[in-house]
Amino acid sequence: MHLTLNNGVVMPALGFGVFQTPPDETIEAVRTALETGYRHIDTAAAYANEREVGEGLRRSGVPRDDVFIETKVWISDFGYDETLHAFDKSAGKLGVDTLDLFILHQALPSRFDLTVGAYRALEQLLADGRVRAIGVSNFMPDHFARLLAETSIVPAVNQVEVHPYFQQREVQASDAAAGTITQAWSPIGGITAYREGGASAFDDPVLGGIADAHGKTRAQVMLRWHLQQGRSAIPKSVRQERIRENFDVFEFVLAGEELAAIDALDTGERRGPAPEVITLETFGREIPEA
Ligand code: NDP
Repeated sequence: MHLTLNNGVVMPALGFGVFQTPPDETIEAVRTALETGYRHIDTAAAYANEREVGEGLRRSGVPRDDVFIETKVWISDFGYDETLHAFDKSAGKLGVDTLDLFILHQALPSRFDLTVGAYRALEQLLADGRVRAIGVSNFMPDHFARLLAETSIVPAVNQVEVHPYFQQREVQASDAAAGTITQAWSPIGGITAYREGGASAFDDPVLGGIADAHGKTRAQVMLRWHLQQGRSAIPKSVRQERIRENFDVFEFVLAGEELAAIDALDTGERRGPAPEVITLETFGREIPEA
């Protein structure tokens, strides 16, 4: 299943995430994912495992051009020149000449000038053919509108927290109005399980009922919900059986009332950091050279 981005580039809708995957487990996780059939990997400079993602790709034997590689610029590298250099750091660690999708990891609301400078660098990299598409992550509608007003290329993707317990429909609507694909992070509600303070989607009874009706797992039902609603999703796992489970989602279809029942699980409660708390002082950290 594929999604066509706003510049015609085709992206596999289901990707493989590696946030919190330790470097020493990343090579094997990525290799297993590629052997399973994933052809889209989502990493980030801030995950400190781009080098191992590249190594996993090479060890898999899958040709580089068959894999859609997405990575993110961290806020400490925002600003025009800094972000151009961030491309060299990420591409160098990954061991590739071009990236398929390069996105800003966060908006920096307190330094929007640096955010705009960073995005202009992405536009330049796109014009130079170093990246095939550009986008953003964790942009709320006000950040998104501000960016559109100050730059020329509409982001192809906005990667944001979306799972049954936090669906951000206003963000999805603002993305859709601009022709931007919403990509769900923590698509199977990982953050509801690994972060304290609230119910875990992996225990949800409504998802459990739908999963049982299809002979599937809750994770598979959540992924199907994203795909049928036109979102990209990038589940993460370090375990072979789960990497396979999360890719085995193309042979069943959720009914309209099942999608509606999942829509009704939204609590409106964000589990990730609020965009306003992201500042250079609180979240800044140096991204090493390649
Ligand atoms: P996910 O929703 O992908 O869930 C991952 C968690 O659930 C892990 O703890 C994993 O553990 C576990 N898990 C995976 N598969 C299953 C399964 N089938 N059944 C039960 N448990 C399972 O959460 P993430 O937060 O990792 O989000 C996915 C990706 O999104 C990230 O890896 C990253 O690429 C991206 N992301 C981006 C952010 C951003 O700010 N732009 C923020 C957060 C994530 P185990 O590995 O042990 O299987």
